[in-house]
Formats: sequence, C-alpha cells, structure tokens
Amino acid sequence: MEDYAIFTPEMKETHTILIPNMLPIQFRLLISVFESYGYHFALLESESRTVVEEGLKNVHNDTCYPALLCIGQFMEALKSGKYDPNKTALMLPQTGGGCRASNYIHLLRKCLRDTFPQVPVISLNFVGLEKDPRNGWRMTMPMIIRGIYSIIYGDMLMTLYNQCRSYELVKGSSKKKLDKWIRIMEKELRKGNYTNTKKYYRAMLKDFAKIERSSVPRIKVGIVGEIYVKYSPLANNHLEDFLISEGCEPVVPSMLEFILYWAINKYNDARLYGRYTKATPVYHMIFRMFYAKQREVIREMTAHGVFTPPHDFEKMRASVSRYIGQGVNMGEGWLIPAEMGALAESGTENIICTQPFGCLPNHIIAKGMSRAIKEYYPNANIIAIDYDPGATRVNQENRIKLMLANAKTAQMQ
Ligand code: SF4
Repeated sequence: MEDYAIFTPEMKETHTILIPNMLPIQFRLLISVFESYGYHFALLESESRTVVEEGLKNVHNDTCYPALLCIGQFMEALKSGKYDPNKTALMLPQTGGGCRASNYIHLLRKCLRDTFPQVPVISLNFVGLEKDPRNGWRMTMPMIIRGIYSIIYGDMLMTLYNQCRSYELVKGSSKKKLDKWIRIMEKELRKGNYTNTKKYYRAMLKDFAKIERSSVPRIKVGIVGEIYVKYSPLANNHLEDFLISEGCEPVVPSMLEFILYWAINKYNDARLYGRYTKATPVYHMIFRMFYAKQREVIREMTAHGVFTPPHDFEKMRASVSRYIGQGVNMGEGWLIPAEMGALAESGTENIICTQPFGCLPNHIIAKGMSRAIKEYYPNANIIAIDYDPGATRVNQENRIKLMLANAKTAQMQ
C-alpha cells in the first residue's frame, strides 16, 4: 500500500477540506451538498501571484497549467497560515479519463511529502478511482445524485446570469439576483429539496426576467476549451468579466454538457472497441437520465421565451460527426468541436478557445479543428488563446480585442 496520509472517517469531524474554485457558481452549490453530509469545506479563491509561483516551485514546468494552478493554490493555502495542516485535507476533482489529469493526485501527494506529509488528499470522482479501504470519504449514490442536481441548478444560474449582466441597466442587479439564488439553492439542497426542478427553474426564470435590461444587442462570444481553463476565473484571467467590460455577452456552455460527454464516452468506447462490461448499460442509463434533465431545461427556457436555452446535446453530437469521430475522447475530445459548431450554428460566431499550456489533446481537437468548423460556418471567428504561467493578461486581452474588432466590422457589413 502507498505511503501517504489517508482521509480517515474520524477526520470528517475535525478536518476542513480545501477545494479549488473551478466553477464559481456550481461549486458553491456542490459544497453545500457535501456539507449536508457532515463534511466541512472551504473553496479556494486566492488569485495572488504566489499561486503560480508555488505551482512552478512544486511541479515540473512542463506539467499542464490546470495542474500547476491547482497544486499552487493548495500549497499557497497551506503555507498561508490560514489553515491548520493537522486539520486540513485537500480535494482534487478527477474525471478518470486517460489524460494526465488522472495522475495529478499522485503529483500533489508527492509535493506534500516533504512539507505537509500529514495532509490527506481526496479524489473527487464518480468512478471509484480511489479504492483504499481506509478512505473515509464516501460518495454514496444519493450524494452523487444530489451533487449532479447542484451542477444542473448552477448551470441554469450561470446561464441566466451571463444573459443578464451584459444588458443590465442597474449595475450590479444581476449579481444581486445571482447571490440571492445561490443562497436559496444552497439552503434547498442542504435540506434535500431539489427534485422539483420545474418549480425552481420557473421561479429562477421569472425572477431573472425582472432585471431591467437594455435591448441593444451585444456581440455574443462563446467560450470553449479545456474544462478548468474554460470555467476558472483564476486560470482564464476573468475572461467572462473582461468580455462584459468590452460590451459583449459571454456564452459559456454548461457543465452538464461535459457530464453528458463523459457518460456517453463510456458507452461509445464499449461500442467502438467491443469492450462491453456490466457497467456499460449503467453508463448509458446515466446518460439518458441526464439528457432528459437537459431536455427539461431546454423545454422550460423555451416555454418561458425570454432567455436562450443551451444547445441540445444529442443534436450537437449528431452534427459533430461531420468533423470528427466520437472515439476522439482524450481531454475534452470531440466536445470542443461540437460546442464550437453548435455556437456558430446558433449565431454565436465569435468563439474563444481557451488552451492551457501543456495540453496536447486540446490543442489538436480545438485549435486543430477550427479550420474544419470554418468550412461549415465560414463566418465563424475562432481564436485560440493560450494560458500559461508566462503569458501576460495584457497579451491575451489584446488578442481578444483584435478578434472583437473583426467581429464589430463583420456586424456592420
Ligand atoms: S486535458 Fe489537457 S490540461 Fe487536462 S490533463 Fe489532459 S493534457 Fe492536461
């Protein structure tokens, strides 16, 4: 058995679990679910330069940028004096795919070995990656289901927030509404009141629609790319805020799309490579279940008629076969071209593809696919922006400004 600290069942009472803030809205709701099971959590939000410096100090500099940032943020938090290392555990989200992310946890444990050997690391995954029987972190089925609901509600809030804040007439009114709904949903999820999705969606839609908004159209800019850099403001230098400041509307695909992508890949792998197991029909069932949830969101938003619903996952999946096979599922795989195609088709022709340093798969299926997308959507204005410890924010923003200048010219023609 490997020699590292284990999160024992007793630590549930004594330890605070630190988790990087990958999805600012969804993770707040997710944490409220975990806390309702008796765990104590803290979301890491530090964005100081020390995070990058700690990352560079603790991992090899050819490690992918998301790993560098997560590990840097953990090390910075442990050294900050804010958390007692004897009463702190770290949680790292893992998808369990074939990519390097599945090894980050070993990298993190290696970093802790000399400085904080007593700090246990928990893997947040839905596929049972950590099989150590001493492990006190247990993801039960009800907990997983409630966690997924928190992501679905978080996605809805993220979508409504982004569709309101670029148009709000009273500055800060969308943020106020968002905070109000995060508080409501945290409470409801803690109490276990989460299954009546229609009731909550309708109330959210009605409430967000009350925000006074300008009717002057804004340039819509889609954000796709590697999952951590796409969502995390630390990693993408507050890309959504920057786009708002430039008078645009950011269009960010939901996290549920990634979950659907993950579930259908398990089924596709079995189908494509003849690797059927007992789990194969279960993954397919999970996929159908969550796809039904996405259909419900689309139906409710369409019926309400004010906001733009997310892209139908199955339509997106059917059209992606024009550019790439669904066996390409390293990293974010075929999901990136699928999202780019769906954005271009629905009129969001300006697309930023966020690419972390060291991420070979996503360079191939994102930057490498933009030409194929443009063959179908000649007006697509796609740029790939690199995020790495050495890239300056000014440089990234200048490239985006250049892209927006093209978008404005196209809009006037
Ligand atoms: S998808 Fe890219 S960033 Fe993520 S683990 Fe793989 S190589 Fe690293």
